[in-house]
Amino acid sequence: MTMFPNLLAPIRVNGQDLPNRVMMGSMHTGLEAHPDGPKRLAAFYGARAKAGAALIITGGWSPNIEGRISKEPVCFQGPELVPGHRIVTDAVHEEGGRILLQLVHGGRYAFHEIPVAPSPIKSPISRTIPVEMTDAIIRQTIDQFESAAALSVEAGYDGVEIMGSEGYLISQFLSAGTNKRDDEWGGPLENRARFVLEILIRARAALGADKILMYRLSALELVDGGLNADEIIWLARETEKIGVDILDTGIGWHEVQVPTIAAAAPRAAFTGHVRRIKEAVSIPVIATNRINTPDIAEAVLARGDADMVSLARPFLADAEFVAKAKAGTPEKVNVCIACNQACLDHYFSHQVSSCLVNPRACFETEIEINPVTNARRIAVVGSGPGGMSVAATLAERGHQVTLFEASNRIGGQFNLARMIPGKEEFNETLRYFKNRLEEFSVDIKYSTRAGVADLVGFDDVVIATGIIPRSKIIPGDDYSSVASYVDILSGKREAGKKVIVVGAGGIGFDVAIYLSYGGDKSHLDPDAFAAHWGVGQEPVRSFSDRDITMLQRSPGSMGKRLGKTTGWVHRAELAHAGVRQLSGVTYKNIDDAGLHIEIDGEGKILSADTIIICAGQESENSLFHQLQEKGITAHLIGGAKEAGELDAERAFDQGVRLGASL
Ligand code: NAP
Ligand code: SF4
Repeated sequence: MTMFPNLLAPIRVNGQDLPNRVMMGSMHTGLEAHPDGPKRLAAFYGARAKAGAALIITGGWSPNIEGRISKEPVCFQGPELVPGHRIVTDAVHEEGGRILLQLVHGGRYAFHEIPVAPSPIKSPISRTIPVEMTDAIIRQTIDQFESAAALSVEAGYDGVEIMGSEGYLISQFLSAGTNKRDDEWGGPLENRARFVLEILIRARAALGADKILMYRLSALELVDGGLNADEIIWLARETEKIGVDILDTGIGWHEVQVPTIAAAAPRAAFTGHVRRIKEAVSIPVIATNRINTPDIAEAVLARGDADMVSLARPFLADAEFVAKAKAGTPEKVNVCIACNQACLDHYFSHQVSSCLVNPRACFETEIEINPVTNARRIAVVGSGPGGMSVAATLAERGHQVTLFEASNRIGGQFNLARMIPGKEEFNETLRYFKNRLEEFSVDIKYSTRAGVADLVGFDDVVIATGIIPRSKIIPGDDYSSVASYVDILSGKREAGKKVIVVGAGGIGFDVAIYLSYGGDKSHLDPDAFAAHWGVGQEPVRSFSDRDITMLQRSPGSMGKRLGKTTGWVHRAELAHAGVRQLSGVTYKNIDDAGLHIEIDGEGKILSADTIIICAGQESENSLFHQLQEKGITAHLIGGAKEAGELDAERAFDQGVRLGASL
């Protein structure tokens, strides 16, 4: 008896039998237009197909040059593209999988010089006012969707997904807020829907009867002028009538100020909206957004919210999500923690996407984990992100690994991060590595601060001793009112009612959020989350009554270096919580009166019960230097190597790459 009877049940879509209910959803990888794209995408998707993903959707390809989302030429036009795509589709088919091409036109979300849209209205996240499409351009665009669908058959795809959610061109036609036309493409909903329905009719014809035609529609728009629940149902039924085989869903437009995929959104927070669509049509409907474990996916299907689930980022985090569910070992899944740091933030800064907790994602051809023929004894010192990933990788390959950890648990700084509201998923990464270290018999020496003598006799040594928080930065910072962020987040010290946070980097923000929430856990409940962010209602927010002031020496607004796609959530939360922010501050000293600062040339004293120092870190690499002095060579990784931008993504990446190479 399987643990996941709903998740692993087969489903028939347009005559094709899919072995389970798990789809790998579309994800822009940054490999689409990369010179090595076909080879790397073949390895990336092939691995997911091999491990049981029932259906894979590619990253979005535009049917024409205007519709490409970035400057990259990710356009599915012209037969010269077919051989490259064939490499990808063949790889997936060889592994027994199926793959659909996603066709997306960015419309006003196209981040290049020539965006087009139904009406010349700039989006809040764009720089350019789009050019209004003429009737001829609209018809040509529909023709181009049709041609791209026909070309997808030549390229070996099992069908296409037409992207009609998240605010791209099709959404822009459908919404009265972005479509102000008075011709046959604008006005009443029937006219605004003409564009997408025509595309779907033509795509159906171009694909032929056997291929899968999937349409992705918004289950919830969250923008002014967006479709309401009844209009969404009407659209879903119309698409079924014209031959769509299966409906995928999306939540919110990219411009909305509600977390829809960031960790601040609870797991499966939106599937109730998908259920309304499922109940209105007879074709299968797919649920998305923050479904990241086999248990949560099973629960969504078991309660009848959807017929399938779509996971995009979770397949970056773990190619073997389905295989592990099938094996009845969900505890082995490397769960996506919804940080966006190495996937979406990379994509939007023109880098190849990967995954913070799985740096092999999209780098399968570069980082290979092969068994070793000459197993050696290797010591790893420190079990933060760098240490635990290098130890697990070395041990998986067959080395005999001893891991020294000064505290009584693995995880290093991740143990602090997991305390932050919205970062609860970090617990999953700790669970994953604990299991992996156990599975591959890593000998963990807890509560052991390794010295040189402990490391003599090993064949190789890796130093991953992490960081120490920067201190001694303000005269008087040894006052009893002063605490380090480590003291506060580890629970060693409790902050008072009036708090000053010195430093406004990622950790300064984290600490301010932690204190604003004051231990409240209601953000984990989908209803409380909806009320907090005003989803379908006026926002109802409550924060702790702490008086919090954040300070930084740099001028300008705070939080500019936070994650590209998640920083806004943290900035918005602190604004909602009424946290004061003072930039351009010079710290003078701390005494009984409080923190003396200078701002705008004026001296001020800020009184506080607690002053929390979040002023960055310095590398803890003393052991490495002691080894060097004794002539013992060692590898240095993570924060111990470079604390300047203490960064879990870099630490995991260095850990896995070193682990793969020794
Ligand atoms: P950080 O981002 O480098 O910020 C350090 C802060 O301390 C800055 O505000 C800096 O601002 C201030 N500072 C630096 N030296 C100082 C000194 N000598 N005296 C007084 N203030 C000083 O470091 P962090 O906040 O510790 O975060 C570490 C890393 O963790 C980040 O780089 C990030 O990769 C990661 N992280 C990210 C997030 C997120 O994105 N949500 C959350 C947590 C952690 P001024 O120089 O302007 O005063
Ligand atoms: Fe998930 Fe973060 Fe990995 Fe992206 S980088 S797939 S959000 S864990």
